[in-house]
Amino acid sequence: MKLTIIGCNAATPTTTGNPTAQVLEVNNQMVLIDCGEGTQTALRKNKIRFSRINHIFISHLHGDHFYGLIGLISTFSLLKREKDLHIFGPKGLKEIILLQLKLSKSWTNFKLLFHELESKASETILTHEKFLVQSIPLKHRVYTNGFLFKEQPKERKLLIHKALEYNIDKVYYKGIKKGKDVVLEDGTIIPNRELTEDPPKVKSYAFCSDTMYTESIVPIIQGANALYHESTFLEQHSELAKLTKHTTAVEAAHIAKKANVGLLILGHFSTRYPDYNMFKNEAISVFENTEIAKDERVFEF
Ligand SMILES: [Zn+2]
Ligand SMILES: [Zn+2]
Repeated sequence: MKLTIIGCNAATPTTTGNPTAQVLEVNNQMVLIDCGEGTQTALRKNKIRFSRINHIFISHLHGDHFYGLIGLISTFSLLKREKDLHIFGPKGLKEIILLQLKLSKSWTNFKLLFHELESKASETILTHEKFLVQSIPLKHRVYTNGFLFKEQPKERKLLIHKALEYNIDKVYYKGIKKGKDVVLEDGTIIPNRELTEDPPKVKSYAFCSDTMYTESIVPIIQGANALYHESTFLEQHSELAKLTKHTTAVEAAHIAKKANVGLLILGHFSTRYPDYNMFKNEAISVFENTEIAKDERVFEF
């Protein structure tokens, strides 16, 4: 999986950073997660082709997570997009976007398919042939979901020398990769385990922003290869974090540790702090494999 950070500022854009947006590449598919202001220009800077984005996931209806969406949809139209666009987000998002399109008489020439979320329990919201997406209910000032992206299991790896050894015709290869045994002409059964190896382990990525500290997400994100968790504040402002339903870097690190994730990526930084390395310094006392997000930074896992 490849994650490109488009923006990781909390609340407001600055000359050095955009509000929340990121692009995840999973099994050759690209999805956009949140769409703060500045997303379009940042996509161009990062050389991400607009036409590759077919699925957009919006965590909640605070402006720093979706104010770039109407602009992006408008550009898709100007670029003569024809492919369907799927948008997942809280109930109300469809109304907001359609009102803007209606009053500006700018209907799109492609299908806008809204998948509005209302459930307070985790649910599978998309089953694509290449990946699955599960919602992660978060605790914030408005209805908010994080998202867990999981690769679909890959096919079993065919051991070609074994297939040749048993003189197995190529027409059976597809079935073997799917786990089928082979029956030879004389009736002998060659079990699949003799012909294949296990496929690479399925990878997963959890995006959790915005939220107060909540251990309720731990079972959902358990063992994820990477976790992006908001850390708006440092420990000195932990009271402010509680008050505004955000998280500190140390709290995010506790979640990463409890969920036993591979990598913790911190983001959604309050612009009051001069140096974002301070977040990493606080978090690594609890969870060592911590990195900080930065616009245009790419993580591969
Ligand atoms: Zn936010
Ligand atoms: Zn928010």
